[in-house]
Amino acid sequence: MIVVLKQGIQQEKIDQLKSWLTERGVDVQPIYGTEKTVLGLVGDTSHLTVDEVGMHEAVEKVLKVQEPFKKANRKFHPENTVIKVGNVLVGEKDLVVIAGPCSVESEDQIMQIAQQVKNSGAAMLRGGAFKPRTSPYAFQGLRAEGLMLLKRAGEAVGLPIVSEITNPNYIEIFNEYVDLIQVGARNMQNFELLKELGRIRKPILLKRGFANTLEEMLMACEYIMSEGNQNVILCERGIRTHETYTRNTLDLSAVPALKRMSHLPVLVDPSHGTGLAWMVEPLSKAAIAVGADGLIIEVHNNPIKALSDGPQSITPAEFSYIMPKLREYARLEGKSIPIPHAVAYAGTPGSFCNEAAEKLFPDSALTGLERFEDVFEAVAAKRIDAGVVPFENTLCGKVSEVLDLLDRYNLVIADRIKLKIQQNLVAPPGTEIKSIRKIYSKDKALEQCKNFLETMPDCRIIPYSTTSAAAAAVAALNDKCSAAIASEAAARLNRLVVLKAGIQDCEENYTEFIVVKAKE
Ligand code: PEP
Ligand code: MN
Repeated sequence: MIVVLKQGIQQEKIDQLKSWLTERGVDVQPIYGTEKTVLGLVGDTSHLTVDEVGMHEAVEKVLKVQEPFKKANRKFHPENTVIKVGNVLVGEKDLVVIAGPCSVESEDQIMQIAQQVKNSGAAMLRGGAFKPRTSPYAFQGLRAEGLMLLKRAGEAVGLPIVSEITNPNYIEIFNEYVDLIQVGARNMQNFELLKELGRIRKPILLKRGFANTLEEMLMACEYIMSEGNQNVILCERGIRTHETYTRNTLDLSAVPALKRMSHLPVLVDPSHGTGLAWMVEPLSKAAIAVGADGLIIEVHNNPIKALSDGPQSITPAEFSYIMPKLREYARLEGKSIPIPHAVAYAGTPGSFCNEAAEKLFPDSALTGLERFEDVFEAVAAKRIDAGVVPFENTLCGKVSEVLDLLDRYNLVIADRIKLKIQQNLVAPPGTEIKSIRKIYSKDKALEQCKNFLETMPDCRIIPYSTTSAAAAAVAALNDKCSAAIASEAAARLNRLVVLKAGIQDCEENYTEFIVVKAKE
């Protein structure tokens, strides 16, 4: 701390100030300039505030040169801190993805989601049991019962669990049942709660308050750490700004800032940070790029019916598509996201090959690869367990490229499935067929649906690269006059509804897909 003295102040006042400071255990070192005198305060000044020093008559200005947070400060602890939650290390090379519903709603719901997010590579399971809702009339959570269900689900799939505490009275049960105790945005400055959490040793996930500065967040962290608990993970979850398009403004600059200020791991919550399910993917990628140690993402099996935060929740299927993409971003940052038992299929999400892979491997993480050869290569190199590629179509015969690849790579055909190639007219919910003016699809699919398209003479036909890209474009337009011709899987993935199913001219069109695996 540096104290600038008033010009021409009496020596007596200066001496009074000096002895007041010395009594408080700081060493006072005066520096005499031609016009001004300043006092340099050496030693631990963390217990002095700028305001109380500034009250002395001799003082013109007080400057802080040291941050008020100590335990969380990187200056006193240059190495990154790694925090162990169950058997998961947060702040290490693996990027930690926490996933699960905003609230635990029922045993079925949490069991199902737990298995699905685990299969896609989540490292921990989240679920709110005590919900700090803005309205007292909104769902408040299943409370202790919710915690038990979360615990059971976590144990069933082998994932540590994360849940939010709202009151110091519950510390005992949280300490017993929860692996990572979350302090939510609304409680970031609940100092009594923070102090109590400082007295246990359970890791704490401290989320940033939506109107708090980073320094305030680190001071909140200091409340926990100064009581003894050093296991704190920080989390940026968006702050309130004048922008209303998103629920909050996700302050991604907080990540490099916090990593510079502190040695603690930093996570990002793109779900609360934006309030919009479709923004979770791009902002998760951005969070990885700015150096986050992990993500906490809300995943719900039926977002429309969710009892809290449905609009920002992604589905387990969406989560499984996002994870392999996030793994690529993590790789760019020299980090990794381990994804168990991945299966690759040729094509994009929502393609028929994707549908075949989903039917063959309902519980696995699926990755779409662009070319047939990419799939063969990944299986041969054992980067994934199995690959799914098309083998034969009723109208077009065998896929010659796949036959060649089967020859070239030494893989075995482990399974096969026949899918009826059914094209559908798909559009955002609420769209009526009579209001459609534009139809997007891949040229082949448009060709297969000639008879149907003749019944829609007022529509402009817009060729697109793939049927699933057409479905994604229609979802983004959301204008109630655009539709796509695509598979049912593409509709589901893009949250579209099927307006008319089976619109292809030829009923008898099947494709057989095969599963290729490396030889034992
Ligand atoms: C939550 O995680 O469900 C939650 C309420 O988060 P936040 O405190 O960031 O709003
Ligand atoms: Mn929530």
